[in-house]
Amino acid sequence: MSHFNPVTPECIEKLTQILGPKGLTTDAEKLESYQTDEEGNPVWFHKPEVVVFPETTEQVAEIVKLANTYLIPITPRAGATNVCCQAIPVYGGIVLTMDRMNKILKIDPDNMYLVTQPGVRTIDLQKAAHEHGLLYAGDPCSADSCMIGGNIATNAGGNKAVKYGTTRHQIYSLKLVTPTGAIVTVGARLQKCSTGYCLEQLICGAEGTLGIVTEITLKLLPLAPYKFDLVAIFKEESAALALPNRIKKAGIDPTSVEFMDNKCVMLCSNFVKVTAPHGNEGCCYVIITVETFDEDELDKKMEIVSDICDELGAVDILQADDRIWSIRRCLAEACRDADKMFMTEDFVVPLDKIPDVMSMIPELEKKHNLYLITSAHIGDGNMHTLALNTKGQSPEQWLHTLDAFHHDLFPRIYALGGKISGEHGIGYKKKDEFKACTQPAEYELVCAIKHALDPNNIMNPGKIVDLEEV
Ligand SMILES: Cc1cc2nc3c(=O)[nH]c(=O)nc-3n(C[C@H](O)[C@H](O)[C@H](O)COP(=O)(O)OP(=O)(O)OC[C@H]3O[C@@H](n4cnc5c(N)ncnc54)[C@H](O)[C@@H]3O)c2cc1C
Repeated sequence: MSHFNPVTPECIEKLTQILGPKGLTTDAEKLESYQTDEEGNPVWFHKPEVVVFPETTEQVAEIVKLANTYLIPITPRAGATNVCCQAIPVYGGIVLTMDRMNKILKIDPDNMYLVTQPGVRTIDLQKAAHEHGLLYAGDPCSADSCMIGGNIATNAGGNKAVKYGTTRHQIYSLKLVTPTGAIVTVGARLQKCSTGYCLEQLICGAEGTLGIVTEITLKLLPLAPYKFDLVAIFKEESAALALPNRIKKAGIDPTSVEFMDNKCVMLCSNFVKVTAPHGNEGCCYVIITVETFDEDELDKKMEIVSDICDELGAVDILQADDRIWSIRRCLAEACRDADKMFMTEDFVVPLDKIPDVMSMIPELEKKHNLYLITSAHIGDGNMHTLALNTKGQSPEQWLHTLDAFHHDLFPRIYALGGKISGEHGIGYKKKDEFKACTQPAEYELVCAIKHALDPNNIMNPGKIVDLEEV
């Protein structure tokens, strides 16, 4: 039993006073579309009682204060592309969208930063930076549909994280409405800072459980004009997986190093109806991107990377053109087409342990009667093994199968020095696994932080840790 109250007509009236009549909806049909995010398995769905569309930080603060008074949970929601049920209102209540906080407020090309509201799509930030000859380095594969507020809250990674880091590395400061309704700016536009706790980094990756971000100051970088994209094709997975360390040791800082096992290559190429070179020969792919500011440097680096691929026994080294990237980029769509309840794993291991994980996969697949395909950001050890429900199990049976798989998989990942999530987060979907895998004293710290900042537990409850159940 949760301690929350239902949203009453009195509460709706107060919300209408804050937002105006067009600033919220209780329409049953509309509420239905907020019962899930990217999640396709209905066992996880929960409907909100009201959806609100604030435009300003002050409105967000008023809503949060109201929610504390009435003990109503709030679930922040941006592009709803997350894959662990982070934007599902587990305990009903209010869904608070970023849809109307959708403006880039400032770009300063000379000092290389921008200020934005959280509801701007990531691709639009990237484009705006490009227009000034600059790079916004955050680049999740969902950039065309996710929003920067969601990227901050999940500490999103993506294809360029190996060189530029994840979203947390792009942040100068955040304006935040705290779980009790105070407005505060954490962080600053500084190159270094040792002034107390690093709160902006605590908020980044907190999945909306420690407050609502309403304004973000982000770093921009100079845009490298030269780039090569190669796909190295291997028969032996172990040779392909040795690439990241070899490339790094050669002094090359790739922008991305993306791995696809053969099942992944075949599923995706069939989906986009593109012939995958050497796909029918059981080969796997590694896509390597390198960017430079100098053409000669680019040529030299390309030669070194090609030599390393040859030494490791690559069957072929080709330009990774649009055809190859279309195979990589369609992964989520191709899986959804095959099975709308597919599960994306997101564990992260030290680079040298990736081969250990890959060698476990056939055994796990057989033992749990699963169909597993793997793509991985192997440059940073972040692996996406995707489980497809090819046997047509019911939603409940499928959940059971995945539970057993996770109980088997995650302790092995931790034994290798890894963690459950490299970029997607924990959400509602993996909170039990997070609890099971985290040292008890560390878990207590996480609960203590949540409790200290959100004493009424109204801010995205049921995600990462569930204080209703503790
Ligand atoms: C096709 C596809 C490809 C993907 N590729 C990647 C990838 O390469 N790398 C990667 O990391 N992820 C990837 N993802 C997952 C997803 O896109 C990211 O997690 C993304 O950051 C979520 O952003 P969003 O705007 O969709 O947020 P939502 O899904 O709406 O919300 C995510 C979390 O953020 C919270 N939140 C939203 N706005 C705020 C705010 N203003 N303040 C506080 N909390 C807030 C929500 O409560 C929720 O907990 C992919 C997903 C898909 C479907």
